[in-house]
Amino acid sequence: MTPLATGFDPGSSIEGARRALAARLRAAGIEDAGLDARLLVGAALELDLTAMVTQAARQLAPEEVARVDAYTQRRLAHEPVARILGVREFWGMPFRLSEATLVPRPDTETVVELALEIFREHTMSGRRPRIADIGTGSGAILLALLHEIPDAFGVGTDVSLTALETARDNAAALGLGDRAAFVACSYATALRGPFDLIVSNPPYIPSGEIPKLSIEVREHDPHLALDGGNDGYDAYRALIPQAAERLAPGGALIVEAGQGQAGDIETLMTAAALTVDRPPKVDLAGIPRAVSARKMPP
Ligand code: SAM
Ligand code: GLN
Repeated sequence: MTPLATGFDPGSSIEGARRALAARLRAAGIEDAGLDARLLVGAALELDLTAMVTQAARQLAPEEVARVDAYTQRRLAHEPVARILGVREFWGMPFRLSEATLVPRPDTETVVELALEIFREHTMSGRRPRIADIGTGSGAILLALLHEIPDAFGVGTDVSLTALETARDNAAALGLGDRAAFVACSYATALRGPFDLIVSNPPYIPSGEIPKLSIEVREHDPHLALDGGNDGYDAYRALIPQAAERLAPGGALIVEAGQGQAGDIETLMTAAALTVDRPPKVDLAGIPRAVSARKMPP
C-alpha cells in the first residue's frame, strides 16, 4: 500500500483521522490546520459537522481513507481548501468556484456591510433599487446584496466569460437568477445606469508584489483578479470615473481597498466629482477596507 500522506492509521476512526490530519497540516506550517482538517475530512466523507460528531467513532472505509489522503496531499502542496472543495462560504451563502474566480475573502464582507449601511440610510427613488458589481468574479458581493435587498435588481460585469458563467450559476443556485444579469465588458463600459449602488472589489495588488504572495494565492487565484498594474491603482483609475457617470443622484460607490490604499482611492473619488462623506469601514483586522463616496444631487 502507498504510504499515507496523512500519517494516520488506515484503521482509524473519523475523529482519529481529523486529529491526525490537523496535526499533519500544523506540522507543515499551515494556518487554520484544525478548521482545514475538519472541512477536508467532512468533504471526503460527505458528512456535515453534526454527522461528523455523531459518527466520530466510526471506522473509515478504505475508499474514504484514500479520499482523505488525496485531499491531504493537495492541501500539503498549498492548494487552498476552497479550491479542493470547489466551494466557499461568503455572507453565509455557498459560492461555487472555478479556475477563473477569486476565492471570496471574509474581508470583502466589509464592502457588503458598508453598502447596506449606506443603502438603508437613504430612501431611494421609488423604483426598484439597481446595483452594479464591477469585476463580479463568483458574484459574491452582488448576490449577497441581492439577498439582503429583496426588491433590488443587479448586474455584474467581468472580462472573464468563465467567471461570468460561474457567477450566473451561483445566482441560479441561490434563487437569485431572476434578479441578476451578467455582462462581459471592461469595468462598467457596457452599462448605462443610473445605479443606486455600484460596488467593486477590483484587482489591486501591485504587479511586482504578486510573486511575494502566498502559494495559496499566487498559484491558485487568477492573476486577472489580483494584478492592479505597476502601483496597484490601474483598476481604480479606470472604474471610478465610469462609476461616477453611472450613479443616480444620491447613489453611492463602495470599493474594496488593499492595505494602505484607502486615502489615494478617496482622492480619485473626489477627482471624479464624488463626495466622500464618511471614513472607510475597517475589516476585522482593523484595516480600512471599504471606501465609499456619494454622487450628490445637483
Ligand atoms: N467580486 C469578486 C470578489 O470580491 O470575490 C471578485 C473580485 S477579484 C479581486 C476582481 C475581478 O475583476 C476578477 O473576477 C477579474 O476577472 C475582474 N476583472 C479584472 N479586470 C477587469 C476589467 N478590466 N473589467 C471587468 N472585470 C475585471
Ligand atoms: N484581497 C486579495 C488578497 O490580498 C486580493 C484581491 C484583490 O486584488 N482585490 O489576496
